[in-house]
Amino acid sequence: MAVRPIRITGDPALHTPASPVSAIDDAVLELVRDMEETMAAAPGVGLAAPQVGVGLRIFIWSWIDDDGVRHRGTAINPQLLMAPLPLGDLDDDEESEGCLSIPGERFALRRSPEALLTATDLDGNGFEARATGWLARIFQHEFDHLDGVLYADRLIHPHDKGMAKAIRKKSWGSPGQSWLPGVDHLEG
Ligand code: ZN
Repeated sequence: MAVRPIRITGDPALHTPASPVSAIDDAVLELVRDMEETMAAAPGVGLAAPQVGVGLRIFIWSWIDDDGVRHRGTAINPQLLMAPLPLGDLDDDEESEGCLSIPGERFALRRSPEALLTATDLDGNGFEARATGWLARIFQHEFDHLDGVLYADRLIHPHDKGMAKAIRKKSWGSPGQSWLPGVDHLEG
């Protein structure tokens, strides 16, 4: 097991659609174990394979809700259905999102309050997970990663400008940058 470097925005791995997983072999099992270790070390509540430079349609999540219940899982070749986006002004406190590939930054973004994830687990079995609230947000965020989309790409005015400024200030946005959880403390 190993913590893997997390790619930072600008790296092509983050901006390229990932490929379906054809077989859950030893390399995939090792990748997911490493992703779990990397997510825990960051720390984060979700991580997608492209964030560690692997262009496969896999994401993981581990999040504790307000009742202290931990939600965790691995989604291989997922599909995601979402309820329509609610209208209304963004709430900068309740709707602020972050990403381990843009560490230390948070911006508000509208997400669907409800999502249905269909995917394959590590044993090769299909499953469905219905999510609301923050877990639904996590699913939408991680699913986007598999299509080469970052939450930065979805921000609206004025948050898109704020994000562009933050990325410029940190000299991100170019290929080949990464950080190592447990060594670099850029998040949390
Ligand atoms: Zn992310």
